Amino acid sequence: MVSIHDFSCRLDSYLEPDQINLVKRAYFYAEQAHDGQFRQTGDPYITHPLAVANILAEMQMDHQSLMAAMLHDVIEDTGIGKGALVTQFNDTVADLVDGVSKLTHLEFETVAEAQAENFQKMALAMAEDIRVILIKLADRLHNMRTLGVLSPEKRRRIARETLDLYAPIANRLGMNDVRVELEELGFKAMHPMRSERIAQAVRRARGNRKEIVSQIQSVLSNFLEQEQLPGVVIGREKHLNSIYQKMKVRGKSFIDIMDVYAFRIVTDSVDSCYRILGVVHNLYKPVEGRFKDYIAIPKSNGYQSLHTTLFGMHGVPIEIQIRTREMEEMANSGIAAHWSYKSNESNKHSHARARQWIKDLLEMQQRAGNSLEFIENVKTELFPHEVYVFTPKGVILELPVGATPVDFAYAVHTDLGNTCVACRIDRRLAPLSTTLQSGQTVEIISAPSARPNLAWLNFVLTGKARGGIRHFLKHQKESEAASLGKRLLEKALLEMDISMEQLEPSQINRTVEYIGAASIDEVFADIGLGKRMAYAIARLFMDADSNQQLEAGTTSNFTIKGTEGMIVSFAKCCHPIPGEPIIGHLSVGKGMVIHRETCHNIKEIRTNPEKCMLVNWDEHIQREFNVALRIEVINQRGIVATIATIVTAADANIEKISIEEKDAKMSLIHMEIYIKDRLHLARVMRRIRNNSAVNRITRAKS
Ligand code: MN
Repeated sequence: MVSIHDFSCRLDSYLEPDQINLVKRAYFYAEQAHDGQFRQTGDPYITHPLAVANILAEMQMDHQSLMAAMLHDVIEDTGIGKGALVTQFNDTVADLVDGVSKLTHLEFETVAEAQAENFQKMALAMAEDIRVILIKLADRLHNMRTLGVLSPEKRRRIARETLDLYAPIANRLGMNDVRVELEELGFKAMHPMRSERIAQAVRRARGNRKEIVSQIQSVLSNFLEQEQLPGVVIGREKHLNSIYQKMKVRGKSFIDIMDVYAFRIVTDSVDSCYRILGVVHNLYKPVEGRFKDYIAIPKSNGYQSLHTTLFGMHGVPIEIQIRTREMEEMANSGIAAHWSYKSNESNKHSHARARQWIKDLLEMQQRAGNSLEFIENVKTELFPHEVYVFTPKGVILELPVGATPVDFAYAVHTDLGNTCVACRIDRRLAPLSTTLQSGQTVEIISAPSARPNLAWLNFVLTGKARGGIRHFLKHQKESEAASLGKRLLEKALLEMDISMEQLEPSQINRTVEYIGAASIDEVFADIGLGKRMAYAIARLFMDADSNQQLEAGTTSNFTIKGTEGMIVSFAKCCHPIPGEPIIGHLSVGKGMVIHRETCHNIKEIRTNPEKCMLVNWDEHIQREFNVALRIEVINQRGIVATIATIVTAADANIEKISIEEKDAKMSLIHMEIYIKDRLHLARVMRRIRNNSAVNRITRAKS
């Protein structure tokens, strides 16, 4: 067990004295916070954060990471909040600790195994600062090292989480040393018997192999010396977990696996790597198809090395990795190598350095010929453009950053998107326009009769949601147009004293064919959209000699219910309301626009039966109508509020209100309100007029 004294001595080698003091202060703060708490091992709790910080110090992580490591369980396990850490230390340290706590809260248990990869991405996406991940990995590593004291059940649970989640994350970040140790410890905890048997077999085999290993090693070393190439030859042993995986996944026998001898040659430069490769290929015959140049084309986590397999003496297969010292360090520590103070001139912001790492990787990759997959990997894994959220059943969905619950609903299913009305985020009701964050659980509330809202197009992000909403609205408009068109045609026919039912199917078909439409429904839709005139179509149905003329306004049995949908709209110029005489104007593409009979805009065309028709209000209209009012008032404090109160008290809703100052004495209030009908409007206007500050009130005309 490390003491704080040993620990700070270790920091001496790469941190400034004032930085070491900050780390120590974090230690003493945490020690006090965890006072009286003990680990399962019986040790005081503080030994755990100290050990975690020690792991990070071995990676030569910066002082802020070490401070956060000391404090990483404070929010979780003591009564201290994030705010206190901000005051005691600073925002960065508090954010790091908070980030680690959030990762700890992720409920891995409920996630299906197939989702493990998405879960890894979610964890990475949640950590805005990648150091959060490194601290969490160190935390997990220490917990795995001290797993022995827990119950078998708990051990297995933590081990599975480590193997499915944390070891792959370490791999993504190129941290091979951490990955290998997590995998070995995880394997031992999951399969204690199997791992012990393999370990025994390895020990037995080691005896037989020893001689061959040292023989090959000296042959290789001597040969390098002879060729005057710098390089250290290291024998490699396979890890228990990797042996087990090879046996299980690839169906290889233990003997086959142990029959391979693996070495690594670490040298000074890329040039030497390739020269050493040439030399060893000269020494022993290479196995065809086994040479891999990961120097020219690095793996997506930045790993670089040359790999080759040779037929050694007596046909023994020899696997060889050749790399420089920098590549070796990169292969072992991955991203952590880029936080270490020796490769960087201190104090740059962590993100800047992580970005530099990615930039380096990209450059390496570009030199080797572009690989889109590689760029995507690095980009999305470290600075994610995605958020990962849970469905109520624990399935993880990937959405672009900025996505909303509506995007989520459409991602689950188009029908869910079309019928969603509200949502719960982490069990709390939230607006459908809320921006989702990684780790949240989203539940969509839907209603069978609900429809997509045009306004959603203002905030949805995904093509699926956008397309779904547009498609629905277009389809809806077409079917609404067809039903309006049918009603219009029926009315036109009735005025010719014939009903739709009286028409022969052949008569209908002939007319449809004559005008070049595909079906009668298309004709209906065209009429509804104002592309064809009901009157003209009705005429086509009739015999040529029945030359009846229709006049607009003679009779009107066409009623407006207000529920026709998008195909009947109400003119913005005159704001007609129930109770007022109205005229329907058929306008191409828009369907029928209802104007007041007195509206100037239709003055010219109102008697043209091909364009306008008299219509009536239905007696039972449920919806509310928009009217614009213009109110002249004497300037006085709070007059807008007073008027607004009057309107609301009269059961009308205000849509918009603005005030324009005329002069020192008078102002003009422009207001749009929703009312039920003419009587309702009259009542509202009367009440406003009764206020002494009001000079004049009229309906606005435009
Ligand atoms: Mn911990």
